[in-house]
Amino acid sequence: MTDREIPDDVLDCIIIGAGPAGLTAALYASRSAMKTLILEGSSTVSQVTVTDMVENYPGIPEVSGFDLHDRLRTQALAFGATAKMEDVISMENTPLGLSHGWTVNTNIASYRALSVIAATGARWRSLGVPGEKELMGRGISYCATCDGPFYRDRSVAVVGGGNTAVQEALYLTKFAEKVTIVHRRDRLRAAAILQDRAFSNEKIDFCWDGIVERIEGTGGVSGLRVKKMKGNGEYVTLPVEGVFIFIGLDPLTEYLMGVVNTDKDGYIIADSRMRTSEKGVFAAGDCIAKSLRQIVTACGDGATAAYEAELYVDELKGRPY
Ligand code: NAP
Repeated sequence: MTDREIPDDVLDCIIIGAGPAGLTAALYASRSAMKTLILEGSSTVSQVTVTDMVENYPGIPEVSGFDLHDRLRTQALAFGATAKMEDVISMENTPLGLSHGWTVNTNIASYRALSVIAATGARWRSLGVPGEKELMGRGISYCATCDGPFYRDRSVAVVGGGNTAVQEALYLTKFAEKVTIVHRRDRLRAAAILQDRAFSNEKIDFCWDGIVERIEGTGGVSGLRVKKMKGNGEYVTLPVEGVFIFIGLDPLTEYLMGVVNTDKDGYIIADSRMRTSEKGVFAAGDCIAKSLRQIVTACGDGATAAYEAELYVDELKGRPY
């Protein structure tokens, strides 16, 4: 296929998602002069934007998540990528002259491209206990940066034992009088440095081996009912006015189901070159199956995906490196 045979409306690359992975992919793709469209999603919030402070991005000792995201976005758009706030619903293989490309359907329009990079990340997981849906936004939160200031001098609970739970619990101590971390085991999963900070913070205490049974309250949270898994299996009710839930993530990959291979949890399977099971579809960041989900690994994935997409598109156009 030559350039002339590709219809004008066909882009070189559509990037779905505008977190660190998607924005880095956009930076690399547009800097390589690929015709690039980023579909940002109309309301999805990248996890990085609600992270209070990032202190493990190499070369930048401390930056707020929001600022880092803003810098990544400005840098990506400076090289000519177009961004649209539309929600991707589905995508399908599309014949294009002698080869094929992809049609990406959003809530507003359809776009065609020779390659697609899926970088949609993951969303916070919910507990699924009584009271959670009913009290959402009225004492239940999945974002300490957004809602922490509402809990000045109050008692709150944080559910979870990973990096996010501990980091956000530490952040909440800026406002709350007391923060209780409720964890289903007797050991945290979080990195040692975060654990050390939590154990030495006087405002944080722990409810170990605790399974949340329900969130209590009418009109607002008044308590957290927890079953203790060790001992007699007794119940305790923590008198808290806020419950912050950080129990991990689920990938945002529904629009790709049946299109590319995923693992049993819905994470996209990509190889070390970020190639998925389908030609022309690459994936990057938290939505892929991998061991370390960090901003820096998302950026690395994004750069690799864009580089591989460029090689792929050049080959389709008959001008391989
Ligand atoms: P995570 O590492 O998967 O931890 C989830 C935590 O929630 C675990 O402690 C888990 O318990 C608990 N949990 C899971 N399902 C539960 C349920 N149904 N009920 C109660 N507890 C439940 O998730 P994360 O902390 O959100 O982190 C996500 C990714 O982002 C990780 O890769 C993490 O390293 C990364 N991250 C990094 C940083 C940083 O480097 N500063 C900050 C934030 C996030 P178990 O321990 O028993 O499994």
